[in-house]
Amino acid sequence: MKTKLKEIVQPIVKWYQAQEKTLPWKQDKDPYHVWISEIMLQQTRIEAVKKYYIRFMEQLPTIQDVANASEEQLLKLWEGLGYYSRVRNIKKAAIQIMQENQGKMPTNYKELLKMPGIGDYTAGAIASISYGEKVPAVDGNVLRVISRILASKENVLLPETKKDITNQLQEIMPGEAGDFNEGLMELGEKICIPNATPICNKCPIQKYCTAYKENLTTEIPVRIKKQKRKIERRTVFILSYKNKIAINKRPKRGILANLYEFPNVLGEVTEQEIPQILKQWNIQFKNLKMKKSAKHIFTHIEWDMVAYEIEVKNKNTIWTWVTEQEMEKQYPLPTAFKKLHEKSNDS
Ligand code: SF4
Repeated sequence: MKTKLKEIVQPIVKWYQAQEKTLPWKQDKDPYHVWISEIMLQQTRIEAVKKYYIRFMEQLPTIQDVANASEEQLLKLWEGLGYYSRVRNIKKAAIQIMQENQGKMPTNYKELLKMPGIGDYTAGAIASISYGEKVPAVDGNVLRVISRILASKENVLLPETKKDITNQLQEIMPGEAGDFNEGLMELGEKICIPNATPICNKCPIQKYCTAYKENLTTEIPVRIKKQKRKIERRTVFILSYKNKIAINKRPKRGILANLYEFPNVLGEVTEQEIPQILKQWNIQFKNLKMKKSAKHIFTHIEWDMVAYEIEVKNKNTIWTWVTEQEMEKQYPLPTAFKKLHEKSNDS
């Protein structure tokens, strides 16, 4: 099995070196650039990350800029990418780098792991790409490619499977560690793709691939999820008074911490109950403009939302009342709420 994996190293390295590097974060191997792009790329498609990455680097070209940036600015730059703890950890890590390392990123895997928000994968990616350290960087793409090559039916969602694959890769890491890791990832993104039939006729390692030979490419990787998400029903109020809309800053802790939201309550409120609910917030109901619904899925919870777009007769002092432009420019509104508002603008 190990011999077989060793055989893929040079074909992957050569294939990767021949690929065009057009993505903005592939223009150099600067560890700051690799770090930010790798964090953004977790959970988000490459195409969607491009504009976020470019804007982030325009506004915050150095680690010092990140350390000095306000949380509001960082959340705004991250708005829509989700998993906001990632950007908070970037700031914490930047401050740590400024205080402990004179603004320079740590230069090896072990030291990188000590930074907030940097786990095995990201530390492996930065250490191998920027410093050529012989460490693997195992993400979902790599798990899929290796499982297929080995025709492994182990559940790739289990940490044991990831550990086993990481150990096997560790034994075969070449001098071109960064190119090998990036090659495996890129192969997983472009050719050995998820949720569809892989494009095996374009694969540089087809002749070493057991899943291909045994016609198992659609069955592998095996992904068995453990638990179901909790479903939470919510009613959201998009309240407008003249040209202003009510928004509210979420608590400092918990899901979507410190971002803004439209006023909302747990459970479903009927149309008849709306005036009563608004009264509790010292708001007088004028008329209901629209009712709509949407879902938003987080890691452990799913929000099943009904939203009412309502015109009201007065403002209160509990919330912040902003214009559309102010909301767009200054207030980070998570996608869960943004899509309700976009829907209402469209309709
Ligand atoms: S031959 Fe097909 S299944 Fe095997 S690694 Fe290549 S693309 Fe993936």
